[in-house]
Amino acid sequence: MALTMLRACSFCEIRCGADRTRDDARPPCLAGARTWCFKRHVSYAEETELVPSYMVYLSACNFRCRFCVQAPACFTPDEGAALDPAQAAEDFSRAVRMGARSINLLGGEPSVHAHTILAVAAEAQRRGEALPLVLNTNMYMTPGVIDLLDGVIRTYVADLKFGNDTCAERIAGITDYTRIVYRNLLHAAAGSRVIVRHLLMPGHTDCCLRPTLTWMRQNLPEAPFTLMTGYVPEYLAAPTGSCDAQGLSRLLSTEEVRDAESLVANAGVRRSA
Ligand SMILES: [Zn+2]
Repeated sequence: MALTMLRACSFCEIRCGADRTRDDARPPCLAGARTWCFKRHVSYAEETELVPSYMVYLSACNFRCRFCVQAPACFTPDEGAALDPAQAAEDFSRAVRMGARSINLLGGEPSVHAHTILAVAAEAQRRGEALPLVLNTNMYMTPGVIDLLDGVIRTYVADLKFGNDTCAERIAGITDYTRIVYRNLLHAAAGSRVIVRHLLMPGHTDCCLRPTLTWMRQNLPEAPFTLMTGYVPEYLAAPTGSCDAQGLSRLLSTEEVRDAESLVANAGVRRSA
């Protein structure tokens, strides 16, 4: 099923239809049939229940967030080394034996590599192992991808980036954002554990954080919520970049962070540990 989807790509809601098995395919995410990994390391900076976490950065992304801290590597589809499912299963298994509590697939956008993730999980299963796979995702996949990953992805770490469609389109170049991501969050939460993160962006407390908290309280009050306040203006948002008009080329102010923390504390959402 995943390979069928790969030949007329419908892994994400851009639904570009590209045949990613062809060398001349140019889907918007630029991902081909093979998956490339541009960085791996152990992190203690994730939510408490995930650490130590083995971070596996997969190349290619369907979003183009102007402040992306992984750009340009994550937008380069063949950055790093091609990932072989059998070798990856062995590597991830070794990480677990050495104490990793989660294998954190991120990017880029890891869900555009659903076929590879399934292949890695199948290799692990052949060895009699179940890997603690985490998908750190923008949640813009099609529902079929969530169904395919059911029983494979133990935890979704969902980046709920924007609180409205205008900000999503202006900053990430993505349309119909809230409908799709809200739908997927509920779908994923029906079968897997979901942790929701929101990166506070300068000047986006009212348009993005507030609606995010309202939606969480009304729809996923039991899901752990993490407010991230480490925004750094990178990539196109860097002071030397091209999107200063978006107001993204500065750090957060102390007041902004304090006000956001206060909003979250009083929002009726469950904070992550
Ligand atoms: Zn906003």
